[in-house]
Amino acid sequence: MFSNSKNILKKYFGYDDFRKGQEEIIKDVLKGRDVLAIMPTGAGKSICFQVPAILFEGITIVISPLISLMKDQVDNLNELGVKATYINSSLTEKQTTDRIYGILTGMYKLVYIAPERLESSNFCALIKDVNISFIAIDEAHCISQWAHDFRTSYKKISKFIEFLDTRPVIGAYTATATEVVKNDIIKLLKLNEPKVYVTGFDRKNLYFSVLRGENNQEYILSYVLKHKDSNGIIYAATRKETEYIYKFLVKNNVKVGLYHAGLSDKKREEVQNKFAYDDINVMVATNAFGMGIDKSNVRYVIHNNMPKNLEAYYQEAGRAGRDGEKSECILLFNPRDIQLQTYFIEETCLSIERKTNEYEKLRSITDYCYTSQCLRKYILEYFGENVNYDNCNNCGNCNDESTDKDISLEAKKIFSCVYRMKEKYGTHMITDVLKGSKNKKVIVNGLNKLSTYGLMKEYDKKFILNIINKLAADGYLRLTNDGYPVVKLTNRAIEALKDNTKIFIKIPKVIRKIQGYGELFVILKSIRKEISETEKIPPYIVFADASLNEMATNMPKNKKEFLNIKGVGELKYNKYGEKFLKAISVYMKEKSINQEDSIDLRLDNKAESKKEILVNDGEKSKKTPSYIITYEMFVEGNSLDKIKDIRNISLQTVQEHIVKCKEEGKDVNIKDFIPEKYINLISNTIVELNTHKLKLIKDALPEEVEYFWIKLVRCTCENN
Ligand code: ADP
Repeated sequence: MFSNSKNILKKYFGYDDFRKGQEEIIKDVLKGRDVLAIMPTGAGKSICFQVPAILFEGITIVISPLISLMKDQVDNLNELGVKATYINSSLTEKQTTDRIYGILTGMYKLVYIAPERLESSNFCALIKDVNISFIAIDEAHCISQWAHDFRTSYKKISKFIEFLDTRPVIGAYTATATEVVKNDIIKLLKLNEPKVYVTGFDRKNLYFSVLRGENNQEYILSYVLKHKDSNGIIYAATRKETEYIYKFLVKNNVKVGLYHAGLSDKKREEVQNKFAYDDINVMVATNAFGMGIDKSNVRYVIHNNMPKNLEAYYQEAGRAGRDGEKSECILLFNPRDIQLQTYFIEETCLSIERKTNEYEKLRSITDYCYTSQCLRKYILEYFGENVNYDNCNNCGNCNDESTDKDISLEAKKIFSCVYRMKEKYGTHMITDVLKGSKNKKVIVNGLNKLSTYGLMKEYDKKFILNIINKLAADGYLRLTNDGYPVVKLTNRAIEALKDNTKIFIKIPKVIRKIQGYGELFVILKSIRKEISETEKIPPYIVFADASLNEMATNMPKNKKEFLNIKGVGELKYNKYGEKFLKAISVYMKEKSINQEDSIDLRLDNKAESKKEILVNDGEKSKKTPSYIITYEMFVEGNSLDKIKDIRNISLQTVQEHIVKCKEEGKDVNIKDFIPEKYINLISNTIVELNTHKLKLIKDALPEEVEYFWIKLVRCTCENN
């Protein structure tokens, strides 16, 4: 049966290969073995039960915790040509009866239900006689009281399984990896000698960064404006804060939605739909938002506050880039967040043991916010993975893009003012005194008589506040833990004053652009939106961003080429293929892109083809080969990323151009591209293996070594 899996993957889902872990999990399920698959958000858990479900003779029941999640997956499956349905409390009695009738008469391959459905003895009795081959439990951690989404009705599942005459294969799927949760799942679901898969938690397409003591509002606004064409989520810790940010963004003409548990169901559904349909770009939300969304094209997740632990952070941040496209996860940290989370823990009625556990987790995420080591490594090690590198080159700490600013003078003025105000006031009063404000409170308290009154009158008030926040984030100041946080000096500040040490703060460089999308992508996106409106399905279910991006880059010209695009299955091609092919062809004509010359950028190896590549760079491209244009731009001082954006081609292509120049003996210094410590390593490996086969060389090297580096070093070996 398994041999058919790959065909199913291609035919329905439009993917050529399984991702890490998927193949093995599917094989085991098809052989009749229970599995527990622990894979991070976005890794592709759904395929692991959807492919077997298509292949099994009977039906598959998928137990899923949220109505919106079910609807999304069912819509998606029906779009792909797989018969699926769901039964939950959103249906009328008639709809439920019709669907149960459909199940009994074999109309569906997959049936999604919420665990609560199993409390209906009527439903269980009806379904008992159906041939159930497989039960998949999505978000299986919900069964464990140690998980953040604990749901009592998940406990009904094992009873339901026992109640069936023939025990189906059971598959449990989750992104939560802790030992206690894992053991709870196995025990409480009564899995039968399950094979446990932990596929690794790395999400390579996500760029992580932490910014301490920023002016959050301003940062968020600049970020959102810079990424106007992308979708993002902004998480804040409290409803009040979400409302505050929401209003601020609305005032600045951002298409934004608000989501928190205090809004009516109707309002929440409305705004969630708008986000799903790309009618709004940004969602400002508390952690109530997310578990039910399957939106694959979220390009960034910004946390306005530090969440309670790394599990919650990784899950929320992980809602970015589920389609595998480059995306960004930014945590804006302020020491006040620690107080807030401490307050939340104190307010719960958890046992002492659990509270201690929560405090330990809070400590770990606080350390994440302060660490200067690789953020990716920190997260992965937290989840128990062995990481054999120190530098991932793909996080804010490894690519430190900030500059250090000497604020010794300002800091000392602030410390002195805090001291003279007897460490009894909050940030705003300190700012007022330094600014020399005539505020009534300042005068009444006699603070205008202090020697530090007006000491920073030439500075902007916001600037002073920002510096106070930064100093608190860097541990020079401390805010007390009560209703009115008062600023205190820490030992670090006192020592800095005593020793006259210099104090620096980090100023982030300009906000990076996640990924530049070109003109054709925007055209294809608008076609997708039209289809989504007619078909009443969200745009990302029509085609993922990754598919559109590949179409815009590869410019398929016919059915065969279109079917080669990642995420395009046969049914999708039949439904929408022509529309997109036509738009691509019109675009190519308009831009005089010669079909023969269109770029084949698919894979490293394919791009190695020796054919001269010409792309549309206006008049110049008609005479000068594309790789030479890249080379000239590089020599003029542009980075490869910049060239990629300006020319609207992929980074891979730009790198191929550089390799070609190196092969031709042009002046290309490999040290400009490869960290020094790897050059010898790569060249020794090539010599040792005595091969030029890229894959063999890559496999023998540390994971972080890029194909691009190997190709460059390989040229040097050849030239020698
Ligand atoms: P998870 O449930 O683990 O969070 P999903 O099942 O929603 O992840 O999958 C995330 C994205 O990855 C989806 O857009 C899905 O279509 C895509 N995907 C899954 N498997 C593959 C694959 N083998 N090749 C390419 N994309 C895949």
